Amino acid sequence: MSFELLSTDPETRARRGRLTLAHGVVETPAFMPVGTQATVKTLTPDEVRASGAQILLGNTYHLYLRPGHERIRRLGGLHRFMAWDGPILTDSGGYQVFSLARLNKIREDGVAFQSHLDGSRHFFDPETATRVQLALGSDIAMAFDTLTPYPSDYARARLDMERTTAWARRCAEVWRAESRDPERVPADGAGKTLLFGIVQGGVYADLRKESCRTLAELDLPGYAVGGLAVGEPMEECMRVLAETEPFLPVLKPRYLMGVGRPEDILEAVERGIDMFDCVLPTRNARKGSVFTSRGKLVIKNATYTDDLRPLDPDCDCPTCRTFSRAYLRHLFAAGEILGLRLATQHSLHYYQTLVRGIRTALETGRFAAWKRETLARLAEGA
Ligand SMILES: [Zn+2]
Repeated sequence: MSFELLSTDPETRARRGRLTLAHGVVETPAFMPVGTQATVKTLTPDEVRASGAQILLGNTYHLYLRPGHERIRRLGGLHRFMAWDGPILTDSGGYQVFSLARLNKIREDGVAFQSHLDGSRHFFDPETATRVQLALGSDIAMAFDTLTPYPSDYARARLDMERTTAWARRCAEVWRAESRDPERVPADGAGKTLLFGIVQGGVYADLRKESCRTLAELDLPGYAVGGLAVGEPMEECMRVLAETEPFLPVLKPRYLMGVGRPEDILEAVERGIDMFDCVLPTRNARKGSVFTSRGKLVIKNATYTDDLRPLDPDCDCPTCRTFSRAYLRHLFAAGEILGLRLATQHSLHYYQTLVRGIRTALETGRFAAWKRETLARLAEGA
């Protein structure tokens, strides 16, 4: 398992890399579709693979509550359970514990919360979050972190950042001690899970820098930038990212959690990010809003009633090769399940086409120009 930095853009901080994981290779910059409950909603693993996706994201909080991480481990691990044989990254559960669970109570050693499903009581600490992810057999596990809301004052951001670093240290200890224990991990995942640390610090440059420095001492295989895309304006997000990036280890993959729209991904790649995940392409598609090379398209709009064009004339996904906007609009108007599937298939395909385009532009040394052209086309309107 390794990360190779293949090239860096001469004009920006953009990077072209290759991450080799237990279940396969991820070319970076990469976009990870979100498979919250061991499924990318509405699609089969084959369909997700056909979109070009090389790695998925799974949600630890959801899988811990249902069907249970120990059950998944006994059933052979998350890959076998959901029949996806490529790499999987799992989040730490932290975000959902704070945003979704009921009555969460944060303590110095962890978080007590009630399940959003049945109200049952649970306690998550760094050790638990790490063990759950090892039991799932993730290729990449995330360190358990705390969430700094936006806006937050300096004192709160510092407290959260210091706590996240202390927790990352505990995660790293468990990960180093137990990741090779056959009692703890599914048969196909023994000793193969990487642990990524998460940089916090709110919008404060000195806290971000300190977070990078203290986390780097743990010498983890990769690092994520967390606590962004939590409601701050996108310019603020990009400013913080630009102030954080110089302090991240150069030769390790960098993952910007929860970002974003195509425009945001382009800007973040320019600022040195290698990996992304976001629910937007899948969640919006199920509501009838898809991403195209010419911007967003809301399929329910009446203007598409007689439109025989595909969603995106520049897209070669199965949806665009086969079906018209008029038909998709009809499916959504009639509440047919196929509409959700076709829209999801297209949007995921578009995101993978976008990151493939970024990679090609980096390989040919024309990222800055390609980015300008792509942004101009996105602004044209579908
Ligand atoms: Zn398409």
